[in-house]
Amino acid sequence: MWPWGHLAAGYLLYTAFERVLTDHPPGDLATIWLVVGTQLPDLIDKPLAWTLQVLPSGRSFGHSLLILVPLLLVAAYRSSGRYRTAIVALGTGHVTHLLGDVVYPLTVGQIHHVGFLGWPLIPPIDYPTTQSFLAHLMGIDLTPWFTGQLALVVVAIVVWTVDGNPGLRVFDGR
Ligand SMILES: [Zn+2]
Repeated sequence: MWPWGHLAAGYLLYTAFERVLTDHPPGDLATIWLVVGTQLPDLIDKPLAWTLQVLPSGRSFGHSLLILVPLLLVAAYRSSGRYRTAIVALGTGHVTHLLGDVVYPLTVGQIHHVGFLGWPLIPPIDYPTTQSFLAHLMGIDLTPWFTGQLALVVVAIVVWTVDGNPGLRVFDGR
């Protein structure tokens, strides 16, 4: 999934989660942490694998549930108040990123391509490319998978606007 698809899916799930639990849209700081969480797995793994080559794959350390779940549980247990809210938002974004990365392999029957969730116990997938992000952008095809993510972005922007643009106030000082 592309970064904007992760962002849209994460926001839609998080706002639904917030509305069911609190009957309010997401708060400003929670939304910022959510946005960070939706991108965090790739911000960790891609540079460390593709540029610095200290990780074996662009989906390994930051994409592993074996690493994420214990860290989240400890962080949530050891925090309270707004810190816990931030951790829940960050964790929700991170988890929705992982869900987004397994949707495509599962829909095309590439079950072994979701093995990154169990890294390092499951060996990393040897993806056929270590291209830069720019090279990936230049190779975009308007597939249903790609256009579906753009549609998801449009829906997320509409919902975010209805929610009162949470997160934006952090930057304009309101
Ligand atoms: Zn990813």
